[in-house]
Amino acid sequence: MVRAAACLLVFLSLVPRARAERDREADASSCLAALDELGVEYARARRRGIEIGVEVRGLLGGVEYRSYTRDPLVLDCSLVFSLARAGELLRAHGVERVHYSSAYQRRNIRGTSRPSRHSFGLAIDVHTLVLAGGEHLAAVKHDYEQGLGDDWDCVGEPLTELGALLRTIDCQLTHSGLFRIILSPDYDADHYNHFHIEALPWSERTDRDPRARLDGAWEVLGRTGAAAAAAR
Ligand SMILES: [Zn+2]
Repeated sequence: MVRAAACLLVFLSLVPRARAERDREADASSCLAALDELGVEYARARRRGIEIGVEVRGLLGGVEYRSYTRDPLVLDCSLVFSLARAGELLRAHGVERVHYSSAYQRRNIRGTSRPSRHSFGLAIDVHTLVLAGGEHLAAVKHDYEQGLGDDWDCVGEPLTELGALLRTIDCQLTHSGLFRIILSPDYDADHYNHFHIEALPWSERTDRDPRARLDGAWEVLGRTGAAAAAAR
């Protein structure tokens, strides 16, 4: 009798674990299926801390992601999905390549004991956008114009073309709904030279449709410059 009760307890403790494992597998297959639908080339990759590990083997949304170290790009599938979808926004501005430093990296947020989202493959630090076959570079460190924009006009009135490009892309990525957060030089001194681009884990996302329109990202442009002045 006692043994039967013990067996029952063990069985009951295994049920939720089995269910969690099934949910994880279902999440992984739905995210990978979304990458397939977007035409992303990838291989599965296992890394500590990454829920659905993916090594990117080609362009993301028509844009090349190049590391300064030339290491392969390994991320969580959820961020890969967002970057592949954001290619539509980058390509519209002529961006062909992106240079990044940190992607998957086990570390804490500076000055805290909390793990950074980089530890889970859910963040990437983008430094430079490359345009027109490499003829033009927009570097966050040199070209981002700080302190512009407001709640109505996200872009503001940058003085240079590259400044306008970087602020526009920052605003569009922020309003696309694809990312949990974009941190720019406006956020703090640690981000003086890059955009920290971060996605939610796939299990927490409701925007899993690879074909959904990025209306928020395009509508934000209607409120800039002359449009904003006319509206005031
Ligand atoms: Zn970062």
